[in-house]
Amino acid sequence: MYDDIKNWMIDVRRDFHQNPELGMEEVRTAKKIASYLREMNIEVIEGVGGTGVIGIIRGGSEGKTVALRADMDALPIVDEKNVAYKSKAVGKMHACGHDAHVTILLGTAKVLNDSKKELKGNVKLIFQPAEETTGGAKPMIEAGVLENPSVDAIFGLHVEPEIGTGAIGIKYGKAYAASDMFDLIVSGKSSHGAYPHSGIDAIAVAANVITALQTIVGRNVDPRDSAVVSIGMINGGSARNIICNHIEMRGIIRTLNPKTREMVLHRAKGIVENICDSMGARGEFIRHESYPSLINHESYVDIVKNNGEKLLRKDKIIAIEEASMGVEDFAYFLEKIPGAFYFLGCRNEEKGIVHPLHNCLFDIDEECLLIGVRMQVENVKSILI
Ligand SMILES: [Zn+2]
Ligand SMILES: [Zn+2]
Repeated sequence: MYDDIKNWMIDVRRDFHQNPELGMEEVRTAKKIASYLREMNIEVIEGVGGTGVIGIIRGGSEGKTVALRADMDALPIVDEKNVAYKSKAVGKMHACGHDAHVTILLGTAKVLNDSKKELKGNVKLIFQPAEETTGGAKPMIEAGVLENPSVDAIFGLHVEPEIGTGAIGIKYGKAYAASDMFDLIVSGKSSHGAYPHSGIDAIAVAANVITALQTIVGRNVDPRDSAVVSIGMINGGSARNIICNHIEMRGIIRTLNPKTREMVLHRAKGIVENICDSMGARGEFIRHESYPSLINHESYVDIVKNNGEKLLRKDKIIAIEEASMGVEDFAYFLEKIPGAFYFLGCRNEEKGIVHPLHNCLFDIDEECLLIGVRMQVENVKSILI
């Protein structure tokens, strides 16, 4: 059964790869997915939380519902690979392998749908937009993706070019960071540069704010925990002889632990407001909340591990020790329901497939597609059979 779908999946993946679409613009991708699912006689709901698509496979008898999720969006990168299936959309590229995730979920749908009579319960196939931008998981949850039938568990995977094809990576507990973006505004008072006492120098105030913000990670975060406070932009001033009255800064905060996240945000806001106040200026800290930290549920990682050991060699299950300070919006699903997110090796040095995610030469070893399907099928069956 699996070998029959291998060539079909390669064709499907290459079609998506040639036609990448950015977050919330995945119109063609979503239409294609819906038509593949309909060809399989699977129930389809389109337009969920934007361009999201849901497929529902109802098993032979009542039981739990297991969801599988694939993200659909591409990146604003010029595809510089020299292959027949390179991107046809100028400046857009599936450089994060979401074309592979969609294809694996379609392949998994095919296999599970063919054997649905033996399933005790349902499978919900979630094709999610905009992982790379504003996040499609949250709007899909708000649109009810985890209801009707209500979802008991979820699995997701990501292709991983650091891991060779034929192996998978698993991570217990915290796997990705939570992300918050912030804008800082320091308001002072302008005056002639030769008469600084007549003004309030926003640049001098900002310098103190920046220095103090850098003490949060070093002095307030438990050394055994992790956090990042980075300022990436600073803007202000108009001439060398004018005391600057307005500074804007932009940055990000990354944390692994939800409690640390609140503490770092609280400290950052306090530092900005109070340092500015103490120097006669006014400080504003504006938070733009983004993805929460992705925390895997141990018993579901065990399911992935056991299935990996069954399907692959024992030494092909790589236990990842450290969490990534990157983000992944699958985290929103795991805030609501138990499940696991794991990594599918897609590296093949002999084929020259060695480039990292988000690189203009990124590619996958297509041999990993079938492994992804077999893993996801087994993960569902571990719960529904
Ligand atoms: Zn990405
Ligand atoms: Zn990705």
